[in-house]
Amino acid sequence: MTDPVLPPIGMLAELTHRCPLQCAYCSNPVELLKANREMDTAAWIALFEQAADLGVLQVHLSGGEPTLRTDLNELVASLARRGVYTNLITAGIGIAEGRIEALADAGLDHIQLSFQGAVAATTEKIGHARGAHEKKLETARRVRAAGLPLTINAPIHRHNMEEVPDFIELALSLGAERLEIANVQYAGWALLNRKALMPEREAVERQVQIVGEAQERLRGIMAIDFVTPDYFAVYPKPCMGGWARDAFMVAPDGTVLPCHAAATIKSLHFERFGDWNLSRIWHESSAFNAFRGTDWMREPCRSCDRQEIDWGGCRCQAMAIAGDAAATDPACIKSPLHERMAALIGEAIETATSDAFVYRRIGKEVETSV
Ligand code: SF4
Ligand code: SF4
Repeated sequence: MTDPVLPPIGMLAELTHRCPLQCAYCSNPVELLKANREMDTAAWIALFEQAADLGVLQVHLSGGEPTLRTDLNELVASLARRGVYTNLITAGIGIAEGRIEALADAGLDHIQLSFQGAVAATTEKIGHARGAHEKKLETARRVRAAGLPLTINAPIHRHNMEEVPDFIELALSLGAERLEIANVQYAGWALLNRKALMPEREAVERQVQIVGEAQERLRGIMAIDFVTPDYFAVYPKPCMGGWARDAFMVAPDGTVLPCHAAATIKSLHFERFGDWNLSRIWHESSAFNAFRGTDWMREPCRSCDRQEIDWGGCRCQAMAIAGDAAATDPACIKSPLHERMAALIGEAIETATSDAFVYRRIGKEVETSV
């Protein structure tokens, strides 16, 4: 049965692809947009107004590094005026003194600060930037001094997985309310670097145990969210809570997508804000309607009792592994391609090199560093 199209609740706004770091696990597209392709202040504010009219309750301001937008205060204030909850997702590098206080004054509700490693050497190696760790620690202190709630975000892969206990101590020492330990999702630059990033199953299992024990021990002190890797799972996750179901993302140039990796599905056409208004995109875009609800599903999803739990999993992963975005997510044990996915991962781990990365760059030849 066709589901009614409900209003979206959340929006991820990728304000820019510019970033002072060059993380090898970055989920931004490999073809990054330069600054001259970014929407201007007026266009972003018009988009936020329409998002609020449509029902959006929370906006995650991301990038790239969103604090590189000099108009960030104005953008935050425009959302605060409409009562929309704002979360700033930042790498915490090069933020001028007084900027965080100014953002809090503009109405910012929350800051999520990423750490590439729990120690300086790892942060510098993964992010490819000297002195990055100290700057992040200083940003965390300023966030707390400004009275804003703080989440520490720790993207995990084979090069920092053993630092999970240190990430927990780091987040506690910084006074974070929440720690998100998220196994890297293999999209964008992370997909390009998967051979160097994918952990072994035993390491993932150790990490699951450590996080589970910490969640118990720190109950009521600090919340720990744990995003497990779905390539070792039995069933997939409900990617974005279901395709075009309650959230969407906007690229720096105003292209509106159901998720950040959706552009890898080349058969879909994505509208740009300005060419169409946001309500029309949400309700009528062929890309948004392509995998909405359950009508598009084939077997084994079509007759599966989990179809409204995981919504068939991730369309981009189906595209990447099965070569067909409408296939059952190969992460699912019921997928005829589940074995192929395991083989692909096995090959990646077998041939993994210890620290050879293709670092994320805008408008330059990518380089491999060993
Ligand atoms: S993952 Fe790293 S490179 Fe990508 S936007 Fe975040 S801080 Fe920048
Ligand atoms: S068959 Fe489809 S709906 Fe059922 S668990 Fe697998 S991915 Fe989910």
